[in-house]
Amino acid sequence: MKFCPECGIALTETSFQGRGEAVLCGNGHLSYAPGPKILVAAFVNCGDKLLWMKRGNQPRAGHWAIPAGFMESGETLREAVARELWEETCIRLPAEAFTPYMIGSISFISEVYIGLRATVDSEDCACGEEAMDVGFFLEDDIDWDEVAYPSANAAVKTAYREARDKHFGVYHGNFTGQSDQFDLVWQPEP
Ligand SMILES: [Zn+2]
Repeated sequence: MKFCPECGIALTETSFQGRGEAVLCGNGHLSYAPGPKILVAAFVNCGDKLLWMKRGNQPRAGHWAIPAGFMESGETLREAVARELWEETCIRLPAEAFTPYMIGSISFISEVYIGLRATVDSEDCACGEEAMDVGFFLEDDIDWDEVAYPSANAAVKTAYREARDKHFGVYHGNFTGQSDQFDLVWQPEP
């Protein structure tokens, strides 16, 4: 930030408070620098298949990914993921259909990654504005080297296994750009 978002006057070195997250301009306006963004992803299974979308927008246009997008102000997590699912794949599910699957950090791009899951009994879907193609696929159908975000592969493969086993846990992921981790946090007794 170089200028006050409220009144537009130039900020000085002394405007920055703490570690630079907040600024106080000479006119007394307090503003906050943009912090980490919250990315919500919809892991939707129909039987043993998972829902994928072929990205129409950059980054990674033309590559397949799990439907996801940024949470907007005023939304709950479930509302955000239901909206993204609708916008990208034309599948309309109520917010209550989603349950937590994973939380994670993508520290190299300052994003919080929250995956929620839902089960559907129909493969009905269609391309939303941001998708080139959408569909439900078996794990064996996926070319794992060609997906949009290979660092998410462990999370996606785990979602496939859980859909087959019908045994659903909660996971934590750390995606640092150098070493990725994806670990089980909790699972009910089988
Ligand atoms: Zn100001």
